[in-house]
Amino acid sequence: MENSKEMRTWLDDMGLDHPLVIAGPCSAETEEQVLRIAHELKDTDVNYYRAGIWKPRTRPGNFEGVGALGLKWLQKVKAETGLKTATEVANRAHVELALEHDVDLLWVGARSTVSPFIMQELADALEGTDKIVLVKNPVNPDLALWLGGIERLHTAGIKKLGAIHRGFSTYEKTKYRNIPEWQLAIEFQNKFPDLPLISDPSHITGNRDMIFDVSQTALDLNFDGLMIETHFDPDNAWSDAAQQVTPAKLVQIMRDLKIRKETDSEAEYNAKLSNLRAQIDILDNQLIEAMGKRMKVSDGIGELKKQKNVAVLQSNRWNQILGAMILEGESKGLSEEFILKMFKAIHQESINHQEKIVNG
Ligand code: PEP
Ligand code: MN
Repeated sequence: MENSKEMRTWLDDMGLDHPLVIAGPCSAETEEQVLRIAHELKDTDVNYYRAGIWKPRTRPGNFEGVGALGLKWLQKVKAETGLKTATEVANRAHVELALEHDVDLLWVGARSTVSPFIMQELADALEGTDKIVLVKNPVNPDLALWLGGIERLHTAGIKKLGAIHRGFSTYEKTKYRNIPEWQLAIEFQNKFPDLPLISDPSHITGNRDMIFDVSQTALDLNFDGLMIETHFDPDNAWSDAAQQVTPAKLVQIMRDLKIRKETDSEAEYNAKLSNLRAQIDILDNQLIEAMGKRMKVSDGIGELKKQKNVAVLQSNRWNQILGAMILEGESKGLSEEFILKMFKAIHQESINHQEKIVNG
């Protein structure tokens, strides 16, 4: 699959003066709920109304979606509000039902993108469709798997394609529900700069208070749109309650976001600069995160030293680290002077931590 301007024709043809917005509840719950949210989103920037009909739940026994019945509600949404509709499909039967009910945009969920078997089944079922198909990143941070899913659809003659960045699972608990691993999204964009890329801050954060910041970072990185879960009563949603926002909050988010356009050379300069700055901000946050982790490990060593009653400072170990890091730094173009200063500061912080522990 080659990058080409044609990839974004479907989006450019919409002639939007703002990023593409896909919003609506995580799950369709009742006809009243689906219609009420749609009416509240009707005169906003929202272009596509989303609602999950079949819900991929990690553990069985939770609400697994209303099923095909909900597709009738989406048809009503279109008739009553004029909003185009979107839902997730995960097998051939879903595709056939969604197409029968004239859903306008289908997306492939993160748990489906991981499986080449499912992706191929979907590509075969969708062959030649003129509907928009968006592929979420797989749950694991594997760029090839994500691209492979899109390639299978492309090979099946689907022209209106795009990708959704929804973050990645980790064993470790972080402030995100699914860590963004922005560098992977940036790499994806570098490979296919013309393929529309949508951010899903709802599933990245898992927390409605962080949605604005993640959305802004995505726009600073030149993402083309946002998918944001929206519900009139988020706390009582049947799935993903913590991450949904009200329609009013969504309008507020869209108003507050800085949307940068590349119209003239100055705007282009600003867009490039903010893209680079966004990358720096991401790396700085990773540095802080890594330092926090390093000090936690260091605290563990402090505990051990306390039990064994040994001294905090152990110079030979320190000299070893320093020597190795100077060499490592050199290979990355970092001066010896900088490495020395940086590691002295880190070492000092580490000693402070351990002394606090050893001396109670
Ligand atoms: C969803 O969009 O509701 C969903 C299930 O997302 P994901 O596939 O990203 O988990
Ligand atoms: Mn959800």
